[in-house]
Amino acid sequence: MIPFNKPHLTGKELQYIQKAVETGKISGNGKFTQLCHQFFEKQYHIQKALLTTSCTDALEMSALLLNIEVGDEIIMPSYTFVSTANAFILRGATIRFIDSKKEHPGLDENQIENLINERTKAIVVVHYAGVACNMKKIMEIADRHQVFVVEDAAQAIDNYYINEDNEKLALGSIGHLATFSFHETKNIIAGEGGLLAINYPKFVERAEIIWEKGTNRSAFFRKEVSKYNWIDIGSSFLPSEITAAFLFAQIEHLEQIQKRRLECWNYYYKNLLNWAQTLNIQLPFIPNYSTNNAHIFYLVCENQTQRDALIQHMKEKNILTVFHYLSLHKSPFFEKKHDGRPLPNSDVYSNCLVRLPLFVNLTQEQIKYIVENLHDFKN
Ligand SMILES: *Cc1c(COP(=O)(O)O)cnc(C)c1O
Repeated sequence: MIPFNKPHLTGKELQYIQKAVETGKISGNGKFTQLCHQFFEKQYHIQKALLTTSCTDALEMSALLLNIEVGDEIIMPSYTFVSTANAFILRGATIRFIDSKKEHPGLDENQIENLINERTKAIVVVHYAGVACNMKKIMEIADRHQVFVVEDAAQAIDNYYINEDNEKLALGSIGHLATFSFHETKNIIAGEGGLLAINYPKFVERAEIIWEKGTNRSAFFRKEVSKYNWIDIGSSFLPSEITAAFLFAQIEHLEQIQKRRLECWNYYYKNLLNWAQTLNIQLPFIPNYSTNNAHIFYLVCENQTQRDALIQHMKEKNILTVFHYLSLHKSPFFEKKHDGRPLPNSDVYSNCLVRLPLFVNLTQEQIKYIVENLHDFKN
């Protein structure tokens, strides 16, 4: 069976974990954690990076930093992973789900402004498949209404928004806050892991405190204060050095990882274009304001019947293809809380999208075999 995903190891992970163990300090915020922070801050012009135990945790930290309270409203796409919403639901927020774009699963920025009112606290954008949302428009809307922007950049590592001056701005460096994931299904991995990017200077000091269980221990370690104390609410959001050591080995190979993923992605695109057109299947759409980090290669089928038949056809050839994200506004948890607005594009992606195997060690024979078997699918 060709799996859908296979975690890629760069070869240095165990060596770095051993190094971390030998230093005698394996709790959080040690040498490897700081190396990871420095990489993100320098490479992507993020003001302050903090490793977390998951992207879910980084999203929960965002909700704490934004002081979300019962009754506050958050705007986000319905077509996303549950954590994007859960983090804010946990603080008592009301979620206003928004539809995806017709040409892409990312949120439709033209629908944001209609939903903004005096209770709106934040817009959470999700760079689906790593593809940039229209950040210029979104930041303008946020500025106009004085609301915060959180980028759920779980899938968007090493990808860029291109502005009118043709400058590349790293995804995760644009919103007031942004969150990354290093779950084993993402481009670089730590088993479980995440990162909070803080791009709004006023949040930096408090973010460190929330990260360290509500204490100023980080400042104490830097000898800025003589003893550490309970300062604010917080939790244990920082991962151990073992996780950070593993992640740093991945970071060192990021360039090679991205290159191979992009080769696979481009091979799929080039060799599936004609076939997809004859079956009315859509290939991924990358707007001109986004680069491509090859996180997901997806197909959007004509309808659910075709999608399910395609998954079955591939399964019979020992190839695992998968769908995901059932619109959150129709989920058992949320359905009754939703305000009733139809979100038809989100439903299309829920019913018709399918993802192809995409990982570093996918061999050329395997990818050829996958494409050949898709060509044999003629419904
Ligand atoms: C993977 C993912 C998450 C959750 O990441 P974890 O690190 O597993 O918590 C959140 N949002 C999106 C869009 C994701 O793809």
